[in-house]
Amino acid sequence: MAGLTLSHLYKRYENSGKKKKTVNDFAVKDLNLECEQGEFVAFLGPSGCGKTTTLRMIAGLEDITDGDIYIGDRRVNDLHPKDRHIGLAFEDYAMYPPLTVYDNVAFNLRAKGVDKAEIDRRVREIAPLMQIDDLLDKMPVKLSGGQKQRVNIARAIIREPELLLMDEPLSHLDGKARQAMRTEIKRMIHKIKCTTVYVTHDQLEAMSLADKIAVINFGVLQQYGTPAEVYDDPVNEFVASFIGDPPMNILETTTVKIDNDFFFTFQDSDLKIAVPKRYYSVVSDGFRCKMGVRPMDVLVGGADSQGTPEKITTFENLGDERRIGISVGESLLMLITADETRYRAGDIIKLEVRGDKTHLFDLETGARIK
Ligand code: ATP
Repeated sequence: MAGLTLSHLYKRYENSGKKKKTVNDFAVKDLNLECEQGEFVAFLGPSGCGKTTTLRMIAGLEDITDGDIYIGDRRVNDLHPKDRHIGLAFEDYAMYPPLTVYDNVAFNLRAKGVDKAEIDRRVREIAPLMQIDDLLDKMPVKLSGGQKQRVNIARAIIREPELLLMDEPLSHLDGKARQAMRTEIKRMIHKIKCTTVYVTHDQLEAMSLADKIAVINFGVLQQYGTPAEVYDDPVNEFVASFIGDPPMNILETTTVKIDNDFFFTFQDSDLKIAVPKRYYSVVSDGFRCKMGVRPMDVLVGGADSQGTPEKITTFENLGDERRIGISVGESLLMLITADETRYRAGDIIKLEVRGDKTHLFDLETGARIK
């Protein structure tokens, strides 16, 4: 059963205000997406791509310019936010400072007139799930960022929403706290099994948390798929370069035919990489496109390698992995290796590129070729 359906959703901000960028344009353009009940969907994209606008339209906090929103099988376009059965956990914690954590969590149920014993039962049920049992008597000002966020989520889910909406819930946290909270959220959401939409610009967060990722750019959905799909099968250059750290190497190339084989060649570089046979039907002598390959799919060849010898430009030892950069014209081709050799800039290595992991992108549109 569908948990959330967005159908031909559009948003155009009519007010110019301070944000003039979208006046003649759409903040969200023809967004179509469906997720199953209980699924965790991440909206992922750079700042200003329309993630928050979409979330606010789902919540009923922003008018829809065109299109339809269904939560389950209910069309909610004309419903007031409080009638949409949603829980909101936005980045500003929005707690009531004079109230204890218990009263903050209980607040919405009290406002709905739920009886005291039932409220107490629900608070005590959710508190251990969110690991806030020990915090119930505390005042919000005494909480750490991570604790506030757990209380915030408890407040959102106590009403047993059909849909949980989270907007950059970890943006106030940094480093280790962020990573720890990410694991916590995963554990909590798994337990409550609530359909969840999670807005983030952090691809790692989306990859680690989500069942499905909606990659958005300039208000347009670029790709909607599982983390493995968007990572392994990006539909265009934007998705390929936005997902993955370090990002995919994407180099402009001209393919040349030598004897009966094709090779990728690069401006101001001697590097030649064999074009995988599956591309022979699309490339030709002098064909121009972009070639993409992830740093872990470029390998250092052994002594008997047929790979082309290349000079190392940069070398970084990050402990569990080593990053090697090779200058290819103006660009740097990155490769990651677990090989423990301590290379130095200037060393020569043989480069091998995994053909099965190579992607081609259209030079003009960025669309994936084949
Ligand atoms: P961020 O991660 O920075 O919050 P976002 O992906 O959530 O970005 P939105 O906040 O949805 O993006 O903004 C989408 C576009 O709509 C941006 O170009 C933004 O400037 C514009 N926008 C957002 N709110 C308004 C508004 N109230 N009035 C006019 N334009 C707006």
